[in-house]
Amino acid sequence: MNPPAPIDPATSLEWPEVLLVDDDEVNLLLTSFALRERGFRVVDVPGGEQALAHLAHSTPDLIVLDAQMPGIDGFDICRSVRARAELKHVPVLMLTGLDDDASIERAYEAGATDFFVKSTQWGLLKHRLHYMLRSARQTYELERSTAKLARAQDLARMGSIDWEVGGGIVVSAEARRVFGVGDGPVTLRALLSRVPLDDRRDLRGVLQETLSHRFALDRDVPIGLDPATRRIVHVVAEPEFNDQGQVVRYAGFVQDVTERREAEARIWRLANLDTLTGLPNRHQLMWRAEKALERAERQQHACALLLIDLDNFKKINDSLGHAAGDEVLREVSERLRHCVRHSDQVSPGVLESAGGRTQSTLEAVARLGGDEFVALLPEIADVGDAERVGRRILEAMREPLVVGGQDVIVTASVGIAIYPRDGTTVPDLMRNSDLAMYAVKAQGKNEVELFRPAFVGRGRETLELEAALHKAIERRELVLHYQPKVDVHHGRVVGAEALMRWQRGDRLVRPADFIPLAEQSGLIVPMSEWALGEAARQARLWQQRFGFDESIAVNLPRQVLRRADVVEQIHAASVAHGVPHRMLMVELTEEDVQEGDESLVLPLLHALHQIGVEISIDDFGRGYSRLESLTTLPLSELKIDIAFVRDLGVRPQSEAVVSAIIALGRALGVRVVAEGVERLSQMEQLYRLGCRLMQGYLFSPPMPPEAFEAWLGETVLPRKGGVGAAVGTA
Ligand code: C2E
Ligand code: CA
Ligand code: CA
Repeated sequence: MNPPAPIDPATSLEWPEVLLVDDDEVNLLLTSFALRERGFRVVDVPGGEQALAHLAHSTPDLIVLDAQMPGIDGFDICRSVRARAELKHVPVLMLTGLDDDASIERAYEAGATDFFVKSTQWGLLKHRLHYMLRSARQTYELERSTAKLARAQDLARMGSIDWEVGGGIVVSAEARRVFGVGDGPVTLRALLSRVPLDDRRDLRGVLQETLSHRFALDRDVPIGLDPATRRIVHVVAEPEFNDQGQVVRYAGFVQDVTERREAEARIWRLANLDTLTGLPNRHQLMWRAEKALERAERQQHACALLLIDLDNFKKINDSLGHAAGDEVLREVSERLRHCVRHSDQVSPGVLESAGGRTQSTLEAVARLGGDEFVALLPEIADVGDAERVGRRILEAMREPLVVGGQDVIVTASVGIAIYPRDGTTVPDLMRNSDLAMYAVKAQGKNEVELFRPAFVGRGRETLELEAALHKAIERRELVLHYQPKVDVHHGRVVGAEALMRWQRGDRLVRPADFIPLAEQSGLIVPMSEWALGEAARQARLWQQRFGFDESIAVNLPRQVLRRADVVEQIHAASVAHGVPHRMLMVELTEEDVQEGDESLVLPLLHALHQIGVEISIDDFGRGYSRLESLTTLPLSELKIDIAFVRDLGVRPQSEAVVSAIIALGRALGVRVVAEGVERLSQMEQLYRLGCRLMQGYLFSPPMPPEAFEAWLGETVLPRKGGVGAAVGTA
């Protein structure tokens, strides 16, 4: 037997070579860049022709194909790869569109190893590719041991036996060696006495039944009382009858199958168990889940799939190293195993003999790859059962792990899909438990969530965005840009507003595209905490560098205002970075301050005022209701809503509102800032109406901190009377 195309185990996992085919040039560029960054060598080609030309003279470790391409498409390439002996074993990943079930079907028909929905989840793609590479390697090893097995069979020790029922057994010389008995007569009793005690009773029963039903015998029998030297002997024997139809003898063969059984077990383990943790792998899980669904359908009960994803594994892996990461995965596996009635080894044979107990035999925790696990509950009475197991899993993680002498806290997010409610096929259940898991991540991890049809409506993309946003904090992808607040009368800067940006890869995402989502999911709370700390850090830095002494304003939404510890947070931020409280300002919208429970917000505003943090009311005038209630608030600043500034000179009402706000500001003794000043004419009109403090593109857009610094040093601001004056506090 020829071994398959060699995959060199030593090198294939580091810098494996990927052939990437995509006609969408942008996607080709992005994917190829992302893969290179993640340790792959990439040959990228923009079409089917080029791909086939490349494959004519080289064998990559992996092939990634865009399914839909003009001309020769992904399916065509895949089919021709599978038709060629030297490429047959190369794993092929097909890139499909979202919800393109037809392509997924076709991909498998064409012989693809797996599919991946096109997205920018590069980390996920990397894991998928590594997983494919690993299983390709295992298949290769498996085929090698099968070849070894065949040779072993040739050399198999086999002997004949002939048992006269009720009398002695005639055994050939080879059979004597197989049984490990010396010369001299051999009796059934003597042979049975060499069978381990536990198996002996079973075997007696089997023999009795075989005899009374006149069956043939075909069975593995363990021989040898000492486990260290125990052999497995396969016995095959046929009955012979006398004229009365009675069994008079059994004749047949015995064979020592110890090595073969061991090899089979090894092959089974390779194909079905995850090498790192010993848990069932994806292949085994799929098999069990299929069986469980078949049974559940027949017996009309529910099953559950729990998708378990560790929340902070990447961080652990990055900070403590891969060996520690592996240890964490092993320990987590051990804990998960105790959360269900896990049974390690289930093969078709075991399943048959389990009969009615099949369902509990199928129950397991499996590792899908990376830090993703699945618990299969083949029979549940109700949804509550599945949720309870989910909670048990979170509970099991609570205790810190000790890795390399260090305490490590691992949490997990669990998404649950129930058969038949949430899907009637294994792929559907997998997908839906995945969505539920993403929903947990989006809401802040470390929870259990049942699949809801609404998740499909919200779409995986939103959920993924939420999950990515969650990671954004951990990965330090959030940044603050600063926009100056300018006193045009004196030509100087009186403060800055911190505006958040999300540096997502090479894209700078604007707040409009993620703040609403963050508010919806509650992520805004940790994000605001981060922003407060970051603004304080920046204020301190500028104070030290060039004596910056103004305030930096941070936008705080209502969710944060409703939290009991917000004053403490702000206090902690200023103490931690050693800046006076007055250098932190908070911008709250008029609605957020006035809406709902004033008894909650009022004490908070007073507490902030008391410690010296200034309060600015943002977007002022937008909801001009109950302005009078403002007189009781400890405010420092009103910001005229951008809409009125924009409409100055266009709608007469705007001028009226702006004048009223300025008058109100005077009456309350607070400063008034006009936002969104873009044109000189707007500046002049505002100035004429009595507003001196402004913010807007006319002066500067929000800038990264370095640019803000440079701007301060260089800028000449317009100033009352038209005479420019250099600002620069340095
Ligand atoms: P906002 O607090 O009203 O911020 C002012 C917005 O106006 C900013 O948009 C700013 O870039 C923009 N802007 C400044 N000057 C001009 C101008 O002359 N013309 C025009 N057309 N626009 C100007 P940005 O940075 O996109 O922020 C949008 C909103 O997102 C903010 O409105 C605020 O509500 C929210 N946001 C931004 N950063 C944060 C944050 O750190 N936390 C929270 N909770 N919300 C934030
Ligand atoms: Ca603001
Ligand atoms: Ca505003």
